[in-house]
Amino acid sequence: MAETLETPVSRRLASVKNIVIVLSGKGGVGKSSSSVQLALSLLNTSPTTRVGLLDLDLTGPSLPRMVGLDVPEASVHQSSAGWVPVYVDQERRLGVMSIGFLLANRGDSVVWRGPKKDGMIRQFLSEVRWGDLDYLVIDTPPGTSDEHISLLTHLHPLFTPTAERPTTPSAVLITTPQTTALNDALKSLSFTRKLALPVLGLVENMAGYVCPCCGEISDTFGRGGGEAMAHRESIPFLGRVPIDTQLVTLLDAVSKGEVPGADVAKPEAQKVAEAAG
Ligand code: ADP
Repeated sequence: MAETLETPVSRRLASVKNIVIVLSGKGGVGKSSSSVQLALSLLNTSPTTRVGLLDLDLTGPSLPRMVGLDVPEASVHQSSAGWVPVYVDQERRLGVMSIGFLLANRGDSVVWRGPKKDGMIRQFLSEVRWGDLDYLVIDTPPGTSDEHISLLTHLHPLFTPTAERPTTPSAVLITTPQTTALNDALKSLSFTRKLALPVLGLVENMAGYVCPCCGEISDTFGRGGGEAMAHRESIPFLGRVPIDTQLVTLLDAVSKGEVPGADVAKPEAQKVAEAAG
């Protein structure tokens, strides 16, 4: 097998077995919540699995809030070996890195042009001390913007499989069943094809509605569009998640180690784990 071109990013990420990039064409389709569910579910695949969650949504970081770390004491430490991520659990099996942890005030807006975003992304990829990770889940902004191009440019040396890391970075697409979201998801898919980024599959989020009273799932807001698209485009369909008013509560419970919420995304995570190898 070929040797990886050495860069600060490839050196830093040499201890990461699998890199999963979460993409969506549209904002608000549940990409960040899916990234969190995926990370938590992968974490639950074994008691020793270690997962990193990297938030590249620089202008709208939402991961700190979603993993219950939107608190002043959750901040990134600088050590001689790099930035230490913020850990969700005491065993340090789930680490999170987000620009949200670096802002002086959590509500501050980030208004940056491309080169500054590129510098931040390079730093996130080359300076975070993740340690040995089974999975690094990377949440990206919606669409195909500067952040995506920077990310894939910096990850490019890892696109050549090596004996130590037989898998290459791959993507998971998130969409809702509605036509506008599907059209935008197609653009993300086209982006992955242009950049030769392998696609592990597509998740249809907000597909159907879970009645908060009886738990029955109805098709009020549509479902099936993502699955049809996956079949049409010959990419794996990883599963669907209905609109569930309990989701935020569940994410809360899962991040505290109370497993029930992990069931929501288990099949999806299982398939990602299998596909990622
Ligand atoms: P994106 O990252 O695509 O912008 P988010 O993950 O931030 O989307 O989700 C947008 C909002 O929708 C959040 O408030 C999130 O909690 C909610 N949400 C996402 N998926 C679901 C779901 N399946 N059921 C209920 N609420 C959801």
